[in-house]
Amino acid sequence: MDEQLKQLQKKINYEKTFDCVQCGYCLPACPTYESMQKETHSPRGRINLVKQFAEGKIGIEALQEPIDRCLGCNACAVVCPTNVEYGKILEGAKEVLDEQKPKTKRQKIVEEILFDQVFPSKTWMNFIGHATWFYQKSSLKALLEKTGLTKMAPLHLDQFEQVLPDLPSPMERRRRRKVTKAVGRSRVNVGFFTGCVMDSIFFKINDQTIDLLTRAGADVFIPDEQTCCGALHAHSGKLESSKELAKRNIEAFEKENVDYIVNNAGGCGARLIEYEELFEDEPEWGERAKAFVDKTKDIHQLLVELDTLTFTKPVHEIVTYQSSCHMLNVQRVVDAPLRLLKSIPGVVYREMKGSDRCCGSAGIYNMIQYDESMEILNKKMDNVKTTDAHTIVTTNPGCLLQMKLGIKREGLEDRMRAVHLVELLSEAEPETRDETDAEHPNATGETESDF
Ligand code: SF4
Ligand code: SF4
Repeated sequence: MDEQLKQLQKKINYEKTFDCVQCGYCLPACPTYESMQKETHSPRGRINLVKQFAEGKIGIEALQEPIDRCLGCNACAVVCPTNVEYGKILEGAKEVLDEQKPKTKRQKIVEEILFDQVFPSKTWMNFIGHATWFYQKSSLKALLEKTGLTKMAPLHLDQFEQVLPDLPSPMERRRRRKVTKAVGRSRVNVGFFTGCVMDSIFFKINDQTIDLLTRAGADVFIPDEQTCCGALHAHSGKLESSKELAKRNIEAFEKENVDYIVNNAGGCGARLIEYEELFEDEPEWGERAKAFVDKTKDIHQLLVELDTLTFTKPVHEIVTYQSSCHMLNVQRVVDAPLRLLKSIPGVVYREMKGSDRCCGSAGIYNMIQYDESMEILNKKMDNVKTTDAHTIVTTNPGCLLQMKLGIKREGLEDRMRAVHLVELLSEAEPETRDETDAEHPNATGETESDF
């Protein structure tokens, strides 16, 4: 076989496409198949196209659009009876497409700046946070809105800008400490993975996360050298860059002797637990990645396992929950967020139809595939409305912005809000349970039952 084709097949995970027996069980789970009703936009159809492309039977143009339109939500992999590793096939296809598709010089420069300079850099992400704070507080925002210039922003950024939270001032950002000690007795050491977008835009939620962890009995460390998890890079076909970021994070957390590496973003957490698989061909890094993954936990999992918090202030609201796809379908964290939610006094939990289906955010999908994303969001909001919820709770920054956008598009801002679960837990004024009750970490544990 031609050496070039062999290389392509390795990269695109050609062997894995044979695990698909074309049974079609995944079709009802796929949001893009539901909305487009095209075989090429179903999991089965996409796998078939990847296989044909890897055999040289079709060209890149036939593969591009169906792959670009995939949300990467992984719902297909969860229901697949033959355990097809769809995520790996998709990542391989994205990498090959990224390498082969023609790009203008401008596109290349923009991508290089974004992926190599901005996302991995704390300085850049802080700068974005500071600039957005200045924009919100100065008269610039009002002026641009008045002149209609905001509408000229690319990638529908004007829409997302309207639902951003109020950002903290540079002074407030500087107040964060590298180490925050547990309230009361220290039970565990936690390294906090702050994330790039979370810390830039949702800095306050990260602060609330630290507060919850310390009240739950954790000493919290924030390694300075940590960087972006690499999820956005992997979803855009930049696997080598994603691996480099993984190495930087592994090194950063190795330096701290922590029991757990905790994150609060479904998408980041999913990438962090995939680190081991990235280094199958590099045994030394593979071992270090395994140690990292073994310690990695979503905050809600850890809070349930520690079982040391009690919530003292009732929240008298109807609350519904929108799962983060990557938390649900990759991390398989199902039960912990709901247990916490239901432990808040006053909350009336109402399950939403299709709460396990993607909201259309999917990384930067809602910016680059705006129309399709909004169609998915409209359906999601129809389901939200039938719950009569006052509050939509989610656990990922992208989903949170998307749900806020959904509320705004429906004109429901005066009676509905979207929050991260950490925000709702903080609102319910958590206190450390009495020492005698809190002697049993792992008392409840994470159960992966259905809900
Ligand atoms: S991906 Fe799995 S569920 Fe879907 S058609 Fe292939 S084997 Fe069946
Ligand atoms: S990842 Fe999601 S959108 Fe893509 S094929 Fe699977 S179910 Fe469909």
